[in-house]
Amino acid sequence: MEEFRYSREFDTKYGYDGSDLGMACNPLATDFKLWAPFADRVELCLYRDGDRKTEYFRILDMEKQERGVWSQHLKGDLHGLYYDYRIRTGEKCVQTADPYAVGCGCNGYRSMVVNLERTDPEGYDRDAAPPRPVENIIYELHIKDFSHDPHSGVPREYRGKYKAFTVPGGNGQYPTCMDYLKELGVTHVHLLPFFDFGWLDEDGAGEQFNWGYDPVNYNVPEGSYATDAHDGTVRIRECKEMIQALHRAGIRVVMDVVYNHTQDADSWLERTAPGYFCRRLEDGTLSNGSACGSDMAVGRKMVDNYIVNSVLYWAREYHLDGFRFDLMGLLTVELMNRIREELDREFGRGEKLLYGEPWRAADSPMEEGTRAALKENINYLDEGIAMFGDDARDVIKGHVFYEEEPGFVNGGKNLEKKVLQAVTAWRGDPPGEGGFRPKSCSQIVNYVSAHDNFTLWDKLVMSLHGLDADFTAPYEDVLCANKLAALILFTCQGNLFLQAGEEFARTKLGDGNSYRSHPKINMLRWEQSEKYRELVEYYRGLIRLRKRLPGLCDKSASAAERMLEQDIPMPDVVAFRMDNCPGEGWKMPVEWPELYVVFNASDKAVRTNLPRGQWIVLADGQQADYLPGTQVSRQGQVSVAPCSGMILGLVPDAAFCKTFVRNLD
Ligand code: CA
Repeated sequence: MEEFRYSREFDTKYGYDGSDLGMACNPLATDFKLWAPFADRVELCLYRDGDRKTEYFRILDMEKQERGVWSQHLKGDLHGLYYDYRIRTGEKCVQTADPYAVGCGCNGYRSMVVNLERTDPEGYDRDAAPPRPVENIIYELHIKDFSHDPHSGVPREYRGKYKAFTVPGGNGQYPTCMDYLKELGVTHVHLLPFFDFGWLDEDGAGEQFNWGYDPVNYNVPEGSYATDAHDGTVRIRECKEMIQALHRAGIRVVMDVVYNHTQDADSWLERTAPGYFCRRLEDGTLSNGSACGSDMAVGRKMVDNYIVNSVLYWAREYHLDGFRFDLMGLLTVELMNRIREELDREFGRGEKLLYGEPWRAADSPMEEGTRAALKENINYLDEGIAMFGDDARDVIKGHVFYEEEPGFVNGGKNLEKKVLQAVTAWRGDPPGEGGFRPKSCSQIVNYVSAHDNFTLWDKLVMSLHGLDADFTAPYEDVLCANKLAALILFTCQGNLFLQAGEEFARTKLGDGNSYRSHPKINMLRWEQSEKYRELVEYYRGLIRLRKRLPGLCDKSASAAERMLEQDIPMPDVVAFRMDNCPGEGWKMPVEWPELYVVFNASDKAVRTNLPRGQWIVLADGQQADYLPGTQVSRQGQVSVAPCSGMILGLVPDAAFCKTFVRNLD
């Protein structure tokens, strides 16, 4: 057969817009539908189990429909059977699992016939996300990291599994896992990939580890996180139980999705339509924008339809509250906006959170008439699509790859202006590099560390104490720098994001790319949460405080105008005054109509004159939980300790209260 060469005409002729591809099973019958536009013949093979080695007990021809779709309707209750397809094209015959499958057997080789209703845990029909929070404070977590540690207090058989989220946590001495999360006060848990990925043997030992960025079955939960990887219904039920448990704890759930590439160029999708789903260069070789040699050809009709339907499926069936797109720069602006629109239509405007990495590993040829969802194209993206703010990250703590290169909090010089730019999410003047200026701070996810690269603690240790330093030592200066980094992060407009354990000095002992390192390197060490209780309390205080600061939570296009005054009184010191009056939709009373914030990255205490009025300290380098606030003792001046920050609130006077109430009327 001749190599397939993609053209827009092909999509016009064969593109299928139905959302019924895959399998639909009820007690009376099951429908199978596959898009295989080049096939001469498609056969459906049925199996009694999901093991790759067993023989099929039945094989049937699929019927050819219009636009490359093949279908089969079988009477009877088929729930629990497994299946795959045999596709013949000319002389060639390939066997493939169903790329649209919602269930699979061990390691995902075979698809499963599932009546999804039978996988719902108790009370799932009443499961609902907690109300939308005033701020999105996202906690990035890997399912295995969460509970692998014996100190997690989670029963051994649940450690590293979905099930760990369904038990209270706590180990008799201090809170862990779910108890800990509830106490911390984050609003979203963002889970690293938990669709079915490759690399790990789902039948293998518990000491395996992988981040999970190798998609095999996009619409099936990963089996190694289930207590039984063989019965395909278990992973589905337990994954739903995890999400239900997080909802019950008042936490929304974001799924990390990887639609930019498949584990292998020879994916189930590519097997059903060779040459269509994988992006290729002019000369026919594989595009490699993902550094995995298997980029998805985003921008083609059936690729885009596949991704949209997959996102909608997870949102509907698993009640997910948001999606984080890996290497979003390999996806298109058009696709991202379409996902935003379809989710909004079904669930309400902005109900589901969407954000992604606005970059790619290397250039990749995009389809004609499309635009890559890269940072430079932020203005083409809907305001409800956010990107990771790498500028703020690097300004605050230094370059992600060069260990010793510092940022503002750990000795970097001439960064004051950039710090001020970060505060308004590059919405003030001047714009960022290359004219970078988001439409609104809602388009930015602020962070200082994520699963990629060094943990914040490790980065700070290496930049302040050299590469041979002891990562487990409780360096006082590192602790100060960490707190200052957190305080800056929590005073930036936009969405907030932190890597799990950032708040207790999480170390991976300098491992900057732990995607398949031992679980002991990766896991959350719950003892650390006790050892660094002070830091945990500091983050907790900041989280609590942030939710009471409407000026910082404001996501409207005019949020940057709240910046009333900014000042760089001396090198390494930055101060600003910000309007903090509640805007539209804010349900809490006015507490502090203005904020005054100081970042002092120098090694000396700094005395600052406060603007007119009575100010109270809401957070400083010691604590961030002074609520309802400590009166500034000597009116008009405060001293900000070396390498620390301070957030002050203006006490509203009687005149202000009067005017404000009148304005609201
Ligand atoms: Ca797997």
